[in-house]
Amino acid sequence: MVYVDLDDVLSATTSTYVDIAAQEFGKKIDYEELRSFDLKASFHLTEREYVDFFDRIHQTEILMGFLPVKGAVDTVTKWNEEGWHIAVVTGRPASTYDVSLEWLNQNAIPYHSFTIVDKYGRENKETSDAVTLEEFSKNGSFSFAVEDSWNMAVFLAETMDIPCRFIQPPLESEKS
Ligand SMILES: [Mg+2]
Repeated sequence: MVYVDLDDVLSATTSTYVDIAAQEFGKKIDYEELRSFDLKASFHLTEREYVDFFDRIHQTEILMGFLPVKGAVDTVTKWNEEGWHIAVVTGRPASTYDVSLEWLNQNAIPYHSFTIVDKYGRENKETSDAVTLEEFSKNGSFSFAVEDSWNMAVFLAETMDIPCRFIQPPLESEKS
C-alpha cells in the first residue's frame, strides 16, 4: 500500500492560490516566491483575510478546477497497474470529502481508499469526521509515502517509520 497526498502531490493546488490571492485579495505574490507552507504568511494575509481566503480556496469550483501535477496521473496509474494499493490521504477539511473524490474521478486517478486526516490540527475533534493523527498512526502497512508537508513527512518517517518522498514546489501542472 502506498500513501499519496492530494494537494501539491496529485493536484496543482498552491499555484492556483496565487491567482486567487492576486485577483480577490490584491496580494500579488509570484508562485516561485512562495517559501512557506503557511499560506497566511506566504500571501501576507491578516487573520481576517486568511479566514476568507481559507473558505474561498475550499469552495467546490476552486477544488474542481485544479489541474493534476505534471506526471502525477501517469505515475499513480503505473503504480496501480503494478498492483499497488493506492491510498490517497489528505489534510483537507472534512467538508471537502465528496468534491475531492469527484476530482480524482474526473482526472482518472486510480485510488483504492481516500482518507481525510487532521494533519494540521484544524478540525474540531468532537464533531469532525476527519481521522486524527494518532488514529492514523496505528495504520502500519504503508510501503512508502509521497507528501509535500514537511511536518507530515517527518511524522510519517519518524512516528510511523514509513519511507517518505518529500515533494517541494514549484510544481508544474499537467497543462495550462
Ligand atoms: Mg499536500
